[in-house]
Amino acid sequence: MLRALFLNACVLVTLTYALSLSYRQWPLSGGRWPLLKLLAFAGMGTVLLLFPAELGPGVVLDLRAVPVLLVTLEYGLLQGLSVAAAILSARYLQGGSGVIPGALALLLVTLVAGGARRFAGLTLKGLAGRRWFWAALLCLPYPLTLLMLPGGAAVFERLATPLVLMNTAGLLLCVSVLEGRFETLWATRSLMQQAERDALTALPNRRRFDADLLSLGVQDALLLIDIDHFKRVNDTFGHPAGDQVLQQVAARLAEVVRAQDTVYRYGGEEFAVILKRVRCEEVIQLAERLRVSVEALPLGSLNGASVTVSVGVAHQGRGLALVQQADAALYAAKHAGRNRVHVAPGSSEAGQGG
Ligand code: GH3
Ligand code: MG
Ligand code: MG
Repeated sequence: MLRALFLNACVLVTLTYALSLSYRQWPLSGGRWPLLKLLAFAGMGTVLLLFPAELGPGVVLDLRAVPVLLVTLEYGLLQGLSVAAAILSARYLQGGSGVIPGALALLLVTLVAGGARRFAGLTLKGLAGRRWFWAALLCLPYPLTLLMLPGGAAVFERLATPLVLMNTAGLLLCVSVLEGRFETLWATRSLMQQAERDALTALPNRRRFDADLLSLGVQDALLLIDIDHFKRVNDTFGHPAGDQVLQQVAARLAEVVRAQDTVYRYGGEEFAVILKRVRCEEVIQLAERLRVSVEALPLGSLNGASVTVSVGVAHQGRGLALVQQADAALYAAKHAGRNRVHVAPGSSEAGQGG
């Protein structure tokens, strides 16, 4: 009996591991009703029915409650009841006696888990801390319906404890498997986000810029923006004040661009802006708007003074060629006296401000 239940537990954990691999990204997609996942949990419960511990003719024990508990804790009571209904339908088709007590036992633990989720805020994550107490509490009512079987009291006395223990251990193992997978996905996403964000300004960084550059279309444009005489800011007000200026300028640029545009910290005191689906004349207007808005920005760390920027614009070209054009235009803007917008030859007429 116990050996058969142990086999059932092995099948359960193996299937949970396989299912955990189907979660591929964080946040978990599929909303509140991820149908494929719920079907997979129901399938898991149905497979468990194929490896039962035979208690008597047609009366079987297995760990089918675990997938239902997992679903209830992760997605909610209704989802748990749906999976339970699917598993119980399979059990009904399997035939034999003990179907009704088994169904009632499953419904009972599902309701208990739904209640614990609703009223005690218990989720998979809560159980992931290997809270034996909670897991055992959820599984505790499961053997109660053994009392409905012929000779119920004796069966209950013999099997209640092992049944609770096996379900508790199975539940905790499966929770660990799923949570381990969720944590890996979460950490991967979080590290990828950190790797692509500049720590000082919180803007996407050069790495992100290089990646986005590959997907630029012909209607997109690039601005390279460099703060004028920034070295003087550091020399006069100190490096921390310079850092604050970079943060404020970054925030202002991000505020002024359109929703579809992205501002990057390109490096040092240089920013890049990718303008998506933009007409040539619009590019110059936008670049000019950015230049003016930075100039108008009073900087607390400079006692209310402001800084200016030079902007190089490139609109025609792809990838590295576009960067080279924008860089050449920026150089030209610097050379022409700074605090101005310069457009790369071939993009359109050179504009200027300042
Ligand atoms: P130009 O108008 O020709 O661009 O002159 P500039 O002084 O802005 O250019 P330069 O390249 O001579 O100096 C850039 C300065 O930016 C030097 C460097 O210390 C400073 N810088 C780069 N990154 C940071 C940073 O993260 N924080 C601070 N505070 N300063 C930085
Ligand atoms: Mg500079
Ligand atoms: Mg520079």
